[in-house]
Amino acid sequence: MASCTKCNLCEHPGTRTEAAEVGRVPCNVRRFQKDVFTLWRCTGCGSIHCEEDADLPRYYADYPLKKQQMGFGERIGYRNRLQLLERQGFRRSDRILDYGCGAGLFVNFLRGRGLEHAFGYDPFVAAYDNRQTLDEPYDAVVSYDVIEHHDEPRAFLHSLTPLVRPGGLLVIGTPNADHVAIDRKGDPSLHPPYHRHILSERILLALGRERGMEPVHTYRRSFYDSLFPTVNSRFLWQYLRKSGLLDTAVEPPRTDLVARSPDLVFLAFFGYFLPAGDYIMVTFRKSR
Ligand SMILES: [Zn+2]
Repeated sequence: MASCTKCNLCEHPGTRTEAAEVGRVPCNVRRFQKDVFTLWRCTGCGSIHCEEDADLPRYYADYPLKKQQMGFGERIGYRNRLQLLERQGFRRSDRILDYGCGAGLFVNFLRGRGLEHAFGYDPFVAAYDNRQTLDEPYDAVVSYDVIEHHDEPRAFLHSLTPLVRPGGLLVIGTPNADHVAIDRKGDPSLHPPYHRHILSERILLALGRERGMEPVHTYRRSFYDSLFPTVNSRFLWQYLRKSGLLDTAVEPPRTDLVARSPDLVFLAFFGYFLPAGDYIMVTFRKSR
């Protein structure tokens, strides 16, 4: 692993020194909030890179989202993920793999919905690190909020394609650099040093096409977006910006913060109608 001063994604890679958009962004995890990182946007493809290398095992040792539990918001978000798959022809009897499944919340949700062939893989979670899970191809492979954590997004995406059967689906959910601003203070999409590279839409589509994965559907909003009050990404992202800490996503809700923030009250009810486009879910179909 090395520091990133040249884009590792595009044909005409931009460099850190010629970048027009550069910012110093603090880590939004409580334990590391004094650590500040340099983010810069590639002039070639618009992707955002974290310049500094980091001792990532130390950062992940007590990662707040490991404490995420199944709540109302998760249930709504996971239902949206499943609906999106079914609209592309996925059937509940199909084999599906959640790659980078963390604690397995989505896998458990799918099993609870009667999907007997739902599996999870995560090299960093003991319960899901069995590599035999990767031996046979799947009808659908999904990977949410993972690719931006990788040092080599191209190699990561390419490593997923053999896991999809010909004609099967690959879904990648990730922040969309096209609608993320480096100077937007506290934006949870930036999340250095965990997010190594935030891809532009063009690059994400291109990485899939390089391995015969044709984009068949692009959903330019978060799976958390719903009409239920507070269950939408505009509200959640703004809440995390105001608190400044990702940790607050898994802590008891700070009603004091919401009560004194008219914008949060507004977004709690109407955020669904104002999607920011800063999250993208692309469904690829593998050529037969
Ligand atoms: Zn680039």
